[in-house]
Amino acid sequence: MITAVVGINWGDEGKGRMVDLLAEQYDIVARYQGGNNAGHTVVNERGKFILNLLPSGILRPECVNVMGPGMVIDIAHLDKELTSLRAQGVDVGAGNLKISDRATICMPYHPLLDGLEEDRMGAKKQGSTRRGIGPVYSDKYMRKSVRVGDLLFRDVLRDRLADIVEWKNLTVEKGYGHEPLSVDAMYDWLMRYGDPIMENICDTNLLLTDAADSGRSILLEAQLGALRDLDFGIFPYTSSSCTLAAYAPLGAGIPAKRLDNVVGIMKAYSSAVGGGPFVCEFSGRQADELREAGGEYGAATGRPRRVGGFDVVASRYGVRLQGATELAVTKLDVLSGMEEIPVCAAYELDGKRVDEFPLEPALERCKPIYESMPGFTGDITGCRKFADLPKQAQDYVRFMEDAVSCHIRYISVGPDREQYIDMG
Ligand code: GDP
Repeated sequence: MITAVVGINWGDEGKGRMVDLLAEQYDIVARYQGGNNAGHTVVNERGKFILNLLPSGILRPECVNVMGPGMVIDIAHLDKELTSLRAQGVDVGAGNLKISDRATICMPYHPLLDGLEEDRMGAKKQGSTRRGIGPVYSDKYMRKSVRVGDLLFRDVLRDRLADIVEWKNLTVEKGYGHEPLSVDAMYDWLMRYGDPIMENICDTNLLLTDAADSGRSILLEAQLGALRDLDFGIFPYTSSSCTLAAYAPLGAGIPAKRLDNVVGIMKAYSSAVGGGPFVCEFSGRQADELREAGGEYGAATGRPRRVGGFDVVASRYGVRLQGATELAVTKLDVLSGMEEIPVCAAYELDGKRVDEFPLEPALERCKPIYESMPGFTGDITGCRKFADLPKQAQDYVRFMEDAVSCHIRYISVGPDREQYIDMG
């Protein structure tokens, strides 16, 4: 069984929490795109863990975790993440962490260039997390990047690095007027953070296809949501990678045809980080209350998130893009206590109702058409069956299901592992 777990919305849907739960049924968890620009928060009996790069299955000792070739890996950040996990008592070694030899290394000059460009853009900046993701993917497509497997071939690495750094300095020094990069410093950095992961490097295509052939189950874990996909998301306010399930097998290293299921994670309301159109956005007290109730602050950056009601137009688009076969709704408990639950049922563009997600220039001009659903009260974090939920909460979930035409399999009613309902 090969399943992709992906985000339906703008990211931060609670994918980490759902992967942590679902990983129990899988032998292998693989990350397939992105880098340390987003964070998953996982809470379990061992504590609270923030994972930026590592697959969420890392908290289960028997699970093999794969960082796929589609990823961009800042190995200094990886070192920090591994050190902090080990300090929290998590055992990570060559047996349970496999890093693709074809994954791209996010070098120190990538966050540097990300920041220099955002600063140059000033008020027009894209709201990058400044973790270097855009620059490192650009270099990959320019075929001027260092890959994890290069660490195994040190005799050629230094020359290759010298060529890349010479080219990079055209931008860093001559373009932005920054102090030039030094080949020695970059090489030393690669050795310092490369050495501790040498044992983890492998051919993940071989590993995953062998595993699939021998009947082992694989979960492919996304970072960010459909609306941040480079091709289909809200451009240019997207990530620089492909967040869709269609890319999951490729970015992990298994043939696309082998993907069996796509579980879409959809939040009971909306949240987004960074700039760009966010039609359903709340403002003022309504936003503050929801942000506080949901703890909507970035796991990687601590930035307050923008929030709004459930967005039917955007979520339906997300479900379609992902080709979700079933959904998990998260954070339903956060809505408890609202007298009425506002739902963004459609958009209005130049006086006309819009039901399909428009292209950015039109999206910028859209206004939300809000309707409201009856609210519910009480603590629902203890509910384990659909029938345990207040009637209004049940109606709300049914409404979401109808709105996006996809079966809701799981309802998450709290951050802890067991706080969920399985609808079957
Ligand atoms: P991800 O990047 O999609 O994994 O999302 P984040 O980790 O950024 O955000 C999810 C946050 O919501 C984390 O702090 C989770 O512990 C928390 N969370 C996940 N599901 C639920 C839920 O059903 N209820 C509540 N109250 N919190 C949840």
